[in-house]
Amino acid sequence: MIEDKNQQRTPLSEYGEFGLIDHLTKNLKLNQQTTVKGIGDDAAVLDFKNKQVVVTTDMMVEGVHFDLSYVPLKHLGYKAVVVNISDVCAMNAKATQITVSIAVSNRFPVEALEELYAGIETAAKAYNVDVVGGDTTSSTKGLLISITAIGEVDAEKVVYRNQAKPKDLLVVSGDLGGAYMGLQVLEREKEVFKVNPQNQPDLSPYTYLIERQLKPEARKDIVELLEKLEVKPTSMIDISDGLSSEIIHLSSQSKVGCVLYENKIPIDPALISTCEEFDVDSTTVALNGGEDYELLFTISQDDFPKIKGNPNLTVIGYMEEEKEGLHLITRAETKIPIKAQGWKNFNG
Ligand SMILES: [Mg+2]
Repeated sequence: MIEDKNQQRTPLSEYGEFGLIDHLTKNLKLNQQTTVKGIGDDAAVLDFKNKQVVVTTDMMVEGVHFDLSYVPLKHLGYKAVVVNISDVCAMNAKATQITVSIAVSNRFPVEALEELYAGIETAAKAYNVDVVGGDTTSSTKGLLISITAIGEVDAEKVVYRNQAKPKDLLVVSGDLGGAYMGLQVLEREKEVFKVNPQNQPDLSPYTYLIERQLKPEARKDIVELLEKLEVKPTSMIDISDGLSSEIIHLSSQSKVGCVLYENKIPIDPALISTCEEFDVDSTTVALNGGEDYELLFTISQDDFPKIKGNPNLTVIGYMEEEKEGLHLITRAETKIPIKAQGWKNFNG
């Protein structure tokens, strides 16, 4: 489906391990003041002075987290960076550095890794993070990418998952469910392609959804917006596994209950039409589809006037006493318990 535009196929063995790292990282520039030493010594050296430092790691495995038959390597590199930066954002912190480790089998030529690194470099530029280290090694089968992101935050600004209080408002950025339906479209086209490789699918009605899947963005802008609005969330998490699963994380860690309104959940018109076409319920998709990388957070009611009317933010419910439990109020005004059905890569 995705055309292989790489005419040249230089075997990885052409470069030694170190030669390969040098080759792939030679264009990277350092911009962060906190980076004292980047790639080129036994370890990077960072100096955060009096800031608190957040560190997060995410691993992506071919066949588990991505399928190279429809994920271009450049997009994969971009996404691998973004999902880590999203976790830094969820701490209300600013990402500053990443390290990149990849294991790759010899079925990939050097040109494929160049594509992957082009995506990593594009994301590093877009989010202004320095690539300060990493490792490249061989795998017997497939491709594996592990990225670690480092970020900084003033001690009084860090936001955890466990400080939501009853009556706090539950707020989400952007819209939900798009990345999951984008994946459904790509999976369907892959099946069509298997049967008829000549078929040129018209994917234009699904551009937004496919982009949500292949090229997600971390909501760094929301962290900056909240700072500007002088709103410090009481708790925050990024939506990687689906809204219901993240609500359960925030609520259980904060020991509160929650009421969520179905008619408040932000969904894009493209999601509604595609859900109709696939005959699936858009609310179910918004609740359980993963990988939107939006931010879900709670704020004190006193802060509501500051966010009111902002097109990037939607109040979707409120927190309650723990004993009240977690509920969704449907459009028909029925109250149903919220259960986790997020993406579980462990059981396929
Ligand atoms: Mg997270």
